[in-house]
Amino acid sequence: MKTLVIGELINNQISSGTLEIISKAKELNLDFKVVTVGSSHASKIGSDEFTNTYLKYNPNKLNLSNCSNEIKNIIDENEIKLVLSNSSYIGRDIIAFLSVDYKTSPVSNVGNFEINDNDLVTFNSINGGEGEYKAKLISDLKLLLIRPKSFDQIELILNDNFETKDISDDDNSLDVFDIHIEEKKGPQLEDSKIVISAGRGMVDASNLSLIEELASKLNAAIGGTRAIVDAGWMPYANQVGQTGKTVKPDVYIACGISGATQHQVGMKDSKFIIAINKDEEAPIFQISDLGIIGDTLNVIPKLNENL
Ligand code: FAD
Repeated sequence: MKTLVIGELINNQISSGTLEIISKAKELNLDFKVVTVGSSHASKIGSDEFTNTYLKYNPNKLNLSNCSNEIKNIIDENEIKLVLSNSSYIGRDIIAFLSVDYKTSPVSNVGNFEINDNDLVTFNSINGGEGEYKAKLISDLKLLLIRPKSFDQIELILNDNFETKDISDDDNSLDVFDIHIEEKKGPQLEDSKIVISAGRGMVDASNLSLIEELASKLNAAIGGTRAIVDAGWMPYANQVGQTGKTVKPDVYIACGISGATQHQVGMKDSKFIIAINKDEEAPIFQISDLGIIGDTLNVIPKLNENL
């Protein structure tokens, strides 16, 4: 099935989400091209294993409709039948434009998909991960928005083997007045091998210093539940779960987290889960590899002392 992967940049590099989709395209032996959308200087986003066209738009204009028009040309010229994109802001906008142009419904929040002959079946989670449904796509052009961390990232040797096309502005382009870049310190949630998350069981925002100390000893990223994000203990960017980020670290340490399904959906695929909770009935223990029944305010200081 001829496939187009819509890629994106983070810090001028191919995003981890794009590398996850490329990994799946290679696993399925798909005949695929990549088109990367961005507005910054990109270097080393090419590969000898596939063609990559970089659609570069003006950072002072919001111009994704023109990028979509260019992608439409690529789809038509190459008789593409499947478009795979990350479920990111840019990906969702572009897939929306394509869905209108081709009068076809995209499938969003895809966790996995398989292809048998020309049949494509997607697997999507619903109700905060409590259930899963399958969708069989029968449209000529199939548009999929892939949930982050659905596949392992591919390890690629990247080089300058890519083409850049500048996307011009027009009357429909919107002016960008301001860009807010979230200040990021320490290991990042999406990439870190260890994630330590805090929940309401940390009792008070001031106790998050215990989590910070543990995270710095383990070189871990810090996450939190929606309950503590809503309470203002932590910025929204740190929220793990259905309406936050999906993480898949080697080790996930849940501190004072009940394990609501909406939280689990963002962390349950972590390789090894450790939970600290004083309630032995807490649902988080059902998905934990190691459970510590105890008070976070006693257990975490002991860990900090001994590490
Ligand atoms: P609680 O559920 O209050 O759990 C606190 C836990 O701490 C309890 O298990 C308690 O036994 C334990 N505890 C208390 N004191 C201590 C102590 N001293 N030592 C040890 N343990 C202690 N939630 C998310 O996290 N992410 C999401 O993306 C998300 N999206 C949502 C989307 C929707 C549409 C809805 C409806 C909800 C969403 N939620 C999300 C909220 C979710 O349902 C839960 O309310 C939330 O995850 C609970 O957070 P918590 O575990 O910190 O708090």
